[in-house]
Amino acid sequence: MNRMSGKYIALPKGVTEKDLDAAIGEFRRVLGPEQVFTDAGHLAPYMKIMLAVPEAQHAPSAAICPRSVEQIQQVVKICNKHRVPIWPISTGRNLGYGSAAPATPGQIVMDLRLMNRILHVDPELCTALVEPGVTYQQLYDYIEQRNLPVWLSCPAPSAIAGPLGNTVDRGVGYTPYGEHFLFSCGMEVVLPNAEVLRTGMGAVSNSNTWQVFKWGYGPYLDGIFTQSNFGIVTKLGLWLMPRPPAYKPFVIRYEKESDIVGIVDTLRPLRIAAVIPNAVVIVNTLWDAAPVTKRADFYSGKGQIPDSAVREIMAAKKLGAWNVYAALYGTPEQVEVNWKIVTQAVAASRNGDILTAAEVNDSPVFKYRAELMAGKMTLQEFSLYNWRGGGGSMWFSPVSQAKGSETLQQMALAKSILEKHGFDYVAEFIVGWRDMHHIIDLLFDRSDPAQMTAAHRCYSELIDEFAKRGYGVYRTNTAFMDKVAGIYGPVMRDVNRKLKKALDPNGILAPGKSGIAI
Ligand code: ADP
Repeated sequence: MNRMSGKYIALPKGVTEKDLDAAIGEFRRVLGPEQVFTDAGHLAPYMKIMLAVPEAQHAPSAAICPRSVEQIQQVVKICNKHRVPIWPISTGRNLGYGSAAPATPGQIVMDLRLMNRILHVDPELCTALVEPGVTYQQLYDYIEQRNLPVWLSCPAPSAIAGPLGNTVDRGVGYTPYGEHFLFSCGMEVVLPNAEVLRTGMGAVSNSNTWQVFKWGYGPYLDGIFTQSNFGIVTKLGLWLMPRPPAYKPFVIRYEKESDIVGIVDTLRPLRIAAVIPNAVVIVNTLWDAAPVTKRADFYSGKGQIPDSAVREIMAAKKLGAWNVYAALYGTPEQVEVNWKIVTQAVAASRNGDILTAAEVNDSPVFKYRAELMAGKMTLQEFSLYNWRGGGGSMWFSPVSQAKGSETLQQMALAKSILEKHGFDYVAEFIVGWRDMHHIIDLLFDRSDPAQMTAAHRCYSELIDEFAKRGYGVYRTNTAFMDKVAGIYGPVMRDVNRKLKKALDPNGILAPGKSGIAI
């Protein structure tokens, strides 16, 4: 699989060592030798993956760190000249989806972390414009230091990830602005032919409406630069949420797994009408248990953790079978009215125990969720990786309608496939406006070859069995991109390939991303 050479830990498909040498030499001239890495020591962070495949399958040949758009343009020209592929990353924290490693061996990682300027934050319009290397923590600190009246929305590993990388991979967060791509506005993109495109109003010279009007004129192009390999995004505009005068996070705990039906049907109308405006999460026991306990404390046998052990955890850690986290935002009066509507809806459903911050006291799990729903910085979700230990994690994330019956069906299907392969069902549903992202963390021990094989088979079967029932995933890891592209059918593949050929005839940009190659 992996093509070794004397000098490089991997070679890209179809590229000779001589061609790579020539390209690396030119990168050194353009970027400076200190921004080009080919030795195993420096490449180690770009090789580390959590997937159920050997690292060699995703080993880069080199990593380069450009500092400007002009340098990226030069790099792209060199890549075309020598036909060498590059894999752009922004903050490179795509953990459980491939981390910083490329889709196929030998691609040169283009690490954009040095391009980390916050170009502007407009507190009146509540907009920002950032470069790829800007982390959420950096933007958060910028806002805090200036006491700007805006909130961020971030994914769970908020502090170390960044808005540009997360948005172009269509990640989600937990505030009312949680559907990140929806709340982005305007991109700057270096195309594979080295031209620079500004989307939307950014294409008009001297425009000051780039970050306020998304659609511009003619076809709306931003979407084709997300989850794709058609361009390198070098700037992203985003909308920020005005800081609300009042914020009320709460949890509703449910006793039984089958309660998921009623939960979704109770909450959906409130979510669609934006009484509850944020991306509500419905979290299962094991996910919520991870920060406060370890699997081995309750179960040390083989196979999926039994329901009886899950019930013990629920009792010991005061968790529900499902734990719903949501929040109200607005003026104190608005929050009071909406709180009445929510509590009445939960009471009418005759199920669920609704608790406020004061009532759960100092529960660390609640605190973490309350922070996420307020766009604050946290790294708590990483405790999931200690649940089983061993560094294996692959997110399986099918999309579901926000209907109770659908969720029960998806849960039962996922749980039984995971059980067959000996893995736990560790899951949450993130409720969008009408959909839910059903997020399952397939956790396994990478040091155990049997678990590696089982995890690979399990993930593959999850994709197949869900697809048979008409369910597709919203995102996948670098080891399964081609397979998932297959689920979306030949016409989609063909259109993507045509776009790829037109924009990147030499196939130099991230071949294999989302299953797209020439
Ligand atoms: P995060 O650290 O926020 O998770 P990453 O930097 O890992 O985000 O980016 C996630 C994925 O998005 C990458 O694996 C890559 O495929 C794609 N990507 C990241 N940055 C860019 C970019 N500037 N242009 C195009 N695609 C990008």
